[in-house]
Amino acid sequence: MTLVQPQAEKPDHLDEAFRNMPIVSPAPTPSEPITASPQSPPVVLEEERRKLPIHDKLPVVRCIARARIPTVQGPEIFLHLYENDVDNKEHLAIVFGEDIRSKTLFQQRPGESQQDRMTRGAYVGKLFPGRDAADRDDRTGQELHFDKDGHLIREPETTFDGQVMARIHSECYTGETAWSARCDCGEQFNEAGRLLGENGHGCIVYLRQEGRGIGLGEKLKAYNLQDLGADTVQANLLLRHPADGRLFLLATAILVDLNLLEIKLLTNNPDKIIAVEGMNRDVKVAERVPMVPLAWRTLEGIKSKEIEGYLSAKIERMGHLLEKPIRI
Ligand SMILES: [Zn+2]
Repeated sequence: MTLVQPQAEKPDHLDEAFRNMPIVSPAPTPSEPITASPQSPPVVLEEERRKLPIHDKLPVVRCIARARIPTVQGPEIFLHLYENDVDNKEHLAIVFGEDIRSKTLFQQRPGESQQDRMTRGAYVGKLFPGRDAADRDDRTGQELHFDKDGHLIREPETTFDGQVMARIHSECYTGETAWSARCDCGEQFNEAGRLLGENGHGCIVYLRQEGRGIGLGEKLKAYNLQDLGADTVQANLLLRHPADGRLFLLATAILVDLNLLEIKLLTNNPDKIIAVEGMNRDVKVAERVPMVPLAWRTLEGIKSKEIEGYLSAKIERMGHLLEKPIRI
């Protein structure tokens, strides 16, 4: 098990053209050999986990609004917007299931009205014109209860607390909005949505960390370096960014807020499993669900010269657990 972390030496496989360029940024840790996609997460010994460079304190997150979004695909989603004490970005949870409830959203606040609660999305059941109570839906008969401190009491009639499929997705403007075939972020996002929609319950934590955390401007520069011959990992290193600077503990904190404490994680990235579990295993990954590129198993999916290189770099340089099928 390896984490992609800063190291002092130069990467081994830099092409000749890049060998003489000054590199301050770290090389990725060499990856493990590719294995067939297993269904259970790797076993991490406790002392191994302690040695990992993960913080043991979760960031503080607070859900400030939730809204129902009907989707073009069919299933309704509940978009949760979060603030936190780490950055000023608006991270999101895309939740499948009206009964998955955020602790911080539903907590009663001093002086607020039922209208205030409905406006920020802290209601049970479904909104309809003229509804006047957030904590009770007269049409379905569901009612929420709170303890003396205003915390939601989690009751099975109104609140889901089981195991769900979850995906941690990092924002990718180019892949999701600008139809880029340089990466498979848009496809993976759609596929995760399809699986969660079928399942009925689930959560995609959507982190605003464009380009593995380096920002869109730097990502565009990295693309130019790729056109000059670097792969996705090398390009980030040449720009003096770590190969993957994303902060997954925000995702953990959001999952804890939603009380999704045991998840089936949709990922090919073994590092993400440990990163999401955190030092104290606040969230447990009970199962890993592989994300196989559509083009590898259907006639659809992304076809481009760039995507081949991108997926190869993920497998060979970042230790992703993907086994490319042999074409006959
Ligand atoms: Zn992308």
